[in-house]
Amino acid sequence: MDLKKIKVLMEEAVSNSEYLKNEGSLATYIPELAKVRADNYGVCLVKTNGDIVTSGDSEIKFSIQSISKVIDLIMALEDVGEEKVFSKVGTEPTEYKFNSIRPIKEKAANPLINAGAITTCSLIKGSNVDEKFNRVIDKLKKLSDSDDVVFLEEIYHSEMKTTDINRSIAYYLKSIGIIEDDAEGILDLYIRNCAIGLNIKELAHIAAVLANGGKSLDGKDVLIDKEVVKTTLALMAACGMYEESGKYLIDVGFPSKSGVGGAIIGIIPGKCGICTYSPRLDSSGNSVRGKKILSEMSKSLDLNIFI
Ligand code: GLU
Repeated sequence: MDLKKIKVLMEEAVSNSEYLKNEGSLATYIPELAKVRADNYGVCLVKTNGDIVTSGDSEIKFSIQSISKVIDLIMALEDVGEEKVFSKVGTEPTEYKFNSIRPIKEKAANPLINAGAITTCSLIKGSNVDEKFNRVIDKLKKLSDSDDVVFLEEIYHSEMKTTDINRSIAYYLKSIGIIEDDAEGILDLYIRNCAIGLNIKELAHIAAVLANGGKSLDGKDVLIDKEVVKTTLALMAACGMYEESGKYLIDVGFPSKSGVGGAIIGIIPGKCGICTYSPRLDSSGNSVRGKKILSEMSKSLDLNIFI
């Protein structure tokens, strides 16, 4: 499909979602996130050949929040391998909330909820938190093809001060031997990763690399191992939209991941990556308007991978 046609259908999806612009609420449990502009929105589609189409604000940097869980998983898989990763974290969706401590029995249900991502953060290699965090930033620079990967310090401090639930999860995981390192350091890395700031173009570029089987969009470099891409996309399809993952997959039909910052990334293998941004969330923590835009685009651009 040519870019002009994509732009027309994207704008149509945006205007069809406009009635939802006051629906949902900001993630005020992280005090600093209560300050973002609720009516901001953006959509970006990047094809696997690098072509790009955007609508709305494509420059504003927002915290990627749980979209970092995709990177945590990719890095854990690359650093220690699938066998070790899935000895520490499960592969199944859960009916519980993303920050619930309840799905943890011997291990977290999956790597795309908080307990699972705190676990994968503990598997990222590096001799200290700074070194691990710098490796995450470097990876994101390569995947987004951008040097402008930022750290939103106010959001990090705001969450660090209030994150009793994630602190409890980290210490619990340590107590049952899932986390082998210092729980406080792992929590720190997890919260830092959530506070990384990117815009929709950078996130859609990362999604397009995943859609391209892990290869850079010029086809020259392998940025993520193909097996790791396969596992990551399968888990995004099964668990990427919290306790709504099944319903969302029926409606939208491609692997996705949302974050409470208001972004959603979607991957259409072999075709393109998409990122939406709109910070008002439903009760599961998914962007209300983002979901509607992706649902509309899935239909009008024929992106559902199942039909
Ligand atoms: N930093 C957030 C938390 O741990 C991420 C949650 C999300 O985006 O779903 O609560």
